Amino acid sequence: MHFQPLFSDSLSSDFPLILAGPCSAESREQLLATARLLAENGIRLFRAGVWKPRTHPNDFEGVGSIGLTWLQEVKQETGMLTATEIATAEHVEKALHAGIDVLWIGARTTTSPFSVQQIADALKGTDAAVLVKNPVISDVDLWIGAIERLYRAGIKRLGAVHRGFDGSVRYRNAPLWHIPLQLRQRLPSLPLFGDPSHIAGRRSLVAAIAQQAMDLHFNGLMIECHINPQEALSDAEQQITPQELSVLLAELTVRKTGCITDGLAALRQQIDDCDSVLLATLVKRLRIAQAIGNYKQVNNLSVLQPERFEEMLKSRLLEADALGLREHFIQTIFETIHEESVRTQLQ
Ligand code: PEP
Ligand code: MN
Repeated sequence: MHFQPLFSDSLSSDFPLILAGPCSAESREQLLATARLLAENGIRLFRAGVWKPRTHPNDFEGVGSIGLTWLQEVKQETGMLTATEIATAEHVEKALHAGIDVLWIGARTTTSPFSVQQIADALKGTDAAVLVKNPVISDVDLWIGAIERLYRAGIKRLGAVHRGFDGSVRYRNAPLWHIPLQLRQRLPSLPLFGDPSHIAGRRSLVAAIAQQAMDLHFNGLMIECHINPQEALSDAEQQITPQELSVLLAELTVRKTGCITDGLAALRQQIDDCDSVLLATLVKRLRIAQAIGNYKQVNNLSVLQPERFEEMLKSRLLEADALGLREHFIQTIFETIHEESVRTQLQ
């Protein structure tokens, strides 16, 4: 695939490219106030969701099409290019009609090939710039497949956004950095943005994750900014103020040379990611052990139940053997894990 530059003007050479703005457009005032401060601080790409994919139907699902007119005002007044999330053919049509400059496909949508195909069909014949967020599950092919669907529909101004994956204990979404690195190895000319806001889930972690993305030589960052983050109607914990964004960007170390795409770095990153998953699994397991401990206490059962441990060990060794893992290795690990479980239950 041969991609075209996302932007035709000098923006394309901005490094890193910064796309900032609130998770959601909430009101005209909130949007314009946030945009003005960002523009004053040199930001040239403005994001705001008007249709929000939410877990529960009672959550704030966005202001809808009216938000597009506020984005038009933002562009008129500040000159910033605008971006919004689209998830259906109707969204595509409305956003393009309103002159929105960049469309992005959200993580939940990228997970569904049917939805992505409908979006690709709706985009056919246009010259839209589209960013594709990674799917919520850690499948690089699903991510690339979505990009291919758009490319085949004639969309050449494309980019990818890494917003993390399901299954993190430490963060809202697990970074699993080896996945965007694999994406870049396979599609080297595709601009890659980091979305530290959705990985972090918490303001205090956004800067560190943005730095990690820079260390891996991502091309840009999408960062959620709100004039009054505490009052935000969606993703309140992870948004930062425009002033905080300026501090973050000033403190960011941007490495212009030395792209980490060589094989060893990518393999090391995979090891780091595997270890993060191992640690997260251990935390989950110990939490369950604690819940079992509480249950035993309430029901007056003894903490140590040797026959249960024997049974468990036997089944783990069988499973491990089928996977080609050495018995001694697995036995040592499970004895140590069990010891820690018993210790937490005794506390
Ligand atoms: C967003 O950018 O506000 C959003 C909904 O992101 P994601 O699709 O990554 O969850
Ligand atoms: Mn958000």
